[in-house]
Amino acid sequence: MSKEKILNYVNGKWVDATSGQSQAVVNPATQEVLAEVALSNTDDVQRAADVAHEAYLEWRKVPSTERIQYLFKLKTLLEENLDALARTITLECGKTYNESAGELRRAIENVEVACGIPTMMMGSNVEDIARGIDEHMIRQPLGVVAIISPFNFPGMIPFWFLPYAIATGNTVILKPSERVPMTMKLALELIAKTGLPDGVVNLVNGGKEAVDAILDYPAIRAVSFVGSTEVARYIYSRGAANGKRVQCQGGAKNPIVIMPDADPELTTQIVADSGFGCAGQRCLATSLVITVGEAKAPFTEALVETARARKVGFGLDAGTQVGPVITPESKSRITGLIGKAIDEGATALVDGRACSVDGFDNGNFLMPTILDNMHPDSEVAGTEIFGPVLGLMHAADLDQAIDIINGARYGNMACIFTESGGAARKFRNEADAGNIGINIGVAAPMAFFPFSGWNDSFFGDLHAQGSHAIEFYTQTKVIVERWPKEWSRRF
Ligand code: NAD
Repeated sequence: MSKEKILNYVNGKWVDATSGQSQAVVNPATQEVLAEVALSNTDDVQRAADVAHEAYLEWRKVPSTERIQYLFKLKTLLEENLDALARTITLECGKTYNESAGELRRAIENVEVACGIPTMMMGSNVEDIARGIDEHMIRQPLGVVAIISPFNFPGMIPFWFLPYAIATGNTVILKPSERVPMTMKLALELIAKTGLPDGVVNLVNGGKEAVDAILDYPAIRAVSFVGSTEVARYIYSRGAANGKRVQCQGGAKNPIVIMPDADPELTTQIVADSGFGCAGQRCLATSLVITVGEAKAPFTEALVETARARKVGFGLDAGTQVGPVITPESKSRITGLIGKAIDEGATALVDGRACSVDGFDNGNFLMPTILDNMHPDSEVAGTEIFGPVLGLMHAADLDQAIDIINGARYGNMACIFTESGGAARKFRNEADAGNIGINIGVAAPMAFFPFSGWNDSFFGDLHAQGSHAIEFYTQTKVIVERWPKEWSRRF
C-alpha cells in the first residue's frame, strides 16, 4: 500500500514539490515507513517566498490585536489535538508519549506569550528632545522570515519562533526536519482551521537544497535555525553573507556538577532523567557529570543503579522511560563513540550497546550507558554524543569543576546540585554557559525568557523566545518630529 505523502502548504493549499523528489519517514522503533515527504527544490522555495511576500503586504496592516486572535484560536486547537500530535511525535521521533506531550505544552506556552504582542512590541518616545521636537521609536515587521528546525523536538521548536514572527506582522516559511515532517503537517492543518489568511504561514518540506534556497533568496529577510553546530555555523555564515538577519542555535555537551552536600535521591533522579530522557537526544541533555570531592563514590554508585533500572522500549507503551534514537546510523555513531571513549581510557560502568526490546527487533534502541573517568581533554568528552550516555569526571573542588566546564567549546547549559547558596552563586556567576540550572537537570527557559545558548551552541545575538524573539522579528524605526506652526501658535 502506498504511504501518505507529506506535501507543502503554500498560500493556503497543499501542493506537491515540483522537484518530484521525496524521502521516507521512518518509525525509529520499528523501521516501518510511516509516510513519504516531499523534498522541495529552489523553485519550490522561491514560489513559497513570493507568496509569503504578497501575503506580508496585507498582513502587516492587520492590527496586532486582530493578529493575536488567530493565536488564541490556535492555542485552543493545539490543546484539543494534543493527543494526536503527541502520538505523531512519538511515532516519527521515538520519544515517549509523556515526553511528546511535554514538548507540546512548551509549544503552547510560546503561543500564549505571543498573544501579548500588542504590549510586547510597544515602542518608546521622548517628548521635547529639543524645544517643540519629539522623538519616537516604533517596531515594524521585517517581511518574510524562515524557520529551519531539527528532528529532536518536532512539535516545540518551530513554536519557539512561529507565534512571535506572525504576531509581529511577518509571514513565515517553515522548513521542518525532513526526518520528522508529520507533526508540522498536523500543526499546519490546525493553523489553517484558525482562518489565518492564506500565505501568512507556509510549509516547505525538504533538506539541504531547500535550506540553501532559503539562504540565498533575497525576499526572505531573516532565518531562525536550530540544529547541529556544524550546520548552524554554515547557515549563519551564508545567511549573513546574503544580508539576512540570522539566529542559529547549535549543538551542546552539557555538564552537571554534583557537590558532596547535594540531596542524594533527588539529584540522582534528576541527573538520570536529564541524561537518559528523550534517549539523550535533547540539546539540554546532561552528558557530563562532574562529581566534586566526596560526591564521587555515592553518586557514581547511585547513577549506575539508576541507569540499569531504566526501561527502554516503544514510546507509546506504558512504562517506557527511554525510546529509540532516531536512525540506525545514529545508533551506530553512538556505539562507535562509546567504543572510542573506552579506547581513550574511560571505563564502561554500564554498557548499553547491546540492547534488545521484545517485539521491536529492528528498533534503534540503546540502554543507558555510564562511562567513568572521562578525561576532559579526550575527544569524546568534547563531542556531542546525542544518545543516552553519561560521562563521569571527578574534580577536587568547585574551582576545578568550573575550569573543566569553561575549557569546553559549547555553552548551552551548565548545572550544579548543592545545598550551598555560596557554591550555587559562584557557579551561576562563573560558569561559561547561557542556561544555568541550580538543582535543575534540564534548565529549559520558559517561553517568556530567551533560550540563551552561548559559545559553539549559538551563533547570533538574539535567541529564540520571549523578548529576544520580538527584537529579532522587528526592526526599529526612529521618528524625529516637529510641527512648526503649532509650536509658534502656542509660544
Ligand atoms: P541538523 O543540523 O542535522 O538538521 C537541522 C536542520 O538543518 C534540518 O531541518 C535539516 O534539514 C537541515 N540541514 C541538515 N544538514 C544540512 C546541511 N548540510 N545544509 C543545510 N541544511 C541542513 O540537526 P538534527 O540532527 O536534526 O538535530 C539535532 C541537533 O540539533 C543536535 O546537535 C542538537 O544539539 C541540536 N539542537 C539544538 C538546540 C538548541 O536550542 N541549541 C535545540 C534542539 C536541537
